[in-house]
Amino acid sequence: MNMRLLLTHRRALVAAIVLFISTLGTSASAQVGGGNRRVVAQAESYTGDTFNYSTETPRGAHVITRVRPRPEWLRAVDDGLTDLFAVARKHGYRSHLNYADYTIFIAKPDRTRDSTGAYSPDVAYVAPSYRGSIYDQGGFIYAAGMAFSFDPCALVVAEHDHDFQRMANVVRYEGEHLVLYHNDRRLFQQTADHSKGGGHPILQ
Ligand SMILES: [Zn+2]
Repeated sequence: MNMRLLLTHRRALVAAIVLFISTLGTSASAQVGGGNRRVVAQAESYTGDTFNYSTETPRGAHVITRVRPRPEWLRAVDDGLTDLFAVARKHGYRSHLNYADYTIFIAKPDRTRDSTGAYSPDVAYVAPSYRGSIYDQGGFIYAAGMAFSFDPCALVVAEHDHDFQRMANVVRYEGEHLVLYHNDRRLFQQTADHSKGGGHPILQ
């Protein structure tokens, strides 16, 4: 573990990971309240949270939360996806650019400040593939967000009580992996694992 490098690595501020799940297929019959049982179960196992609330943003993205969702969170999700779809269209991508294609889990942060003291609500994830990388904190990493399901598109972001622009950025950055998976599989493969270098934004 190289703490100093971690702290000075700007990209670590929005460190993010993609977990490759072998059971990416989903059945429409599994749809439950805007999400589905499989992605809810996955999100609960990754975060250790219990998600009790399911709602939609004004633009139609699905949001699943542990506590009653704040209006600022829903706006941040819409803002992040709006930015993501705009840059995706600029690249000629067309697939999965609808708000309703996305399910955003908003989890309890495992820290709210990074080691420099900056506001940084992050979730700790067990991440074996990051062992020895700049993100490694000893078998787990703090990540601002995590994309973990391609169909439906699902990602986790931490609850924020201010700096909702950061929350929007995390949605936008993690959403990049999902947009790339559906539109540019080669670039997706190259950029899916940040432990091998690279960071966000991938799409400019
Ligand atoms: Zn990422």
